[in-house]
Amino acid sequence: MNASDQTTNALITGAGSGIGAECASRFLSAGWRVIGVDLSPGVSREIEWLQADVTDWDRLARLASDLPPLGAVINCAGVGLREPAIGTSKADWDRIIAVNLSGCFYVARWTFARLRDGHGVLVNIGSINGTGGFKNRAAYGASKAAVIALSKNLAVEWAELGVRVLTVSPGFTRTALVEQGLREGKTAIEDILRHTPQARLLETAEIAAAIYRLASHDFSALTGSNVLLDGGFDSFTGF
Ligand code: NAD
Repeated sequence: MNASDQTTNALITGAGSGIGAECASRFLSAGWRVIGVDLSPGVSREIEWLQADVTDWDRLARLASDLPPLGAVINCAGVGLREPAIGTSKADWDRIIAVNLSGCFYVARWTFARLRDGHGVLVNIGSINGTGGFKNRAAYGASKAAVIALSKNLAVEWAELGVRVLTVSPGFTRTALVEQGLREGKTAIEDILRHTPQARLLETAEIAAAIYRLASHDFSALTGSNVLLDGGFDSFTGF
């Protein structure tokens, strides 16, 4: 594949906030057309909004037929949960798995044909919680571990069809999701800084810039990988 074969149309879920919104800005500033999928339209007028819940199979199936060829699909829609395992309700478990895992699969399933047409790349957002154990995050961690497995399996299945699939797993990043956890006292900033060798929250702009590059032809050999963007969190042993 030549760099020029990749279509410059991106579909980004969760584009209304946080990492998804920043990815949309990054692709837009590089001249891409961006289709944003979220529960409600976000503020950016440059994004073409599709109002959809990523857990709604039928709605995604209907939307898929009108999509242009896609050079990138970025699955950023996600929800968090910080509850002890024995305090987790069935409704919470089902919601976390539905949005974070099933949502990634449903979007992948229904955009695949257009990704193939656009010589595209699918990026699923995982988490450091997908490979490491945390307290009070059993449902969230399980959903993110499964996303990493989903990407590997899709990458293997779709490689010969010209579609790359990656997971990008950020560490603690300054977004509404993290700031809510800090506000509610469910996460302490001191704990984050102590366990992150770079001793800082990551910024959405650096995550989005990396995703943009990883989706480019520069990384044509990269598929199936879980790329950790975590300030060293995953490598830290405690020493
Ligand atoms: P965020 O809350 O700022 O944004 C999430 C977006 O997803 C929102 O716009 C929300 O409306 C949308 N969304 C939620 N449920 C949806 C649904 N069912 N259908 C469609 N859209 C839906 O969160 P964020 O921090 O930017 O997180 C984005 C992704 O990155 C998530 O998958 C999250 O798990 C992951 N992540 C975040 C961090 C972090 O530190 N912020 C770290 C690792 C991974």
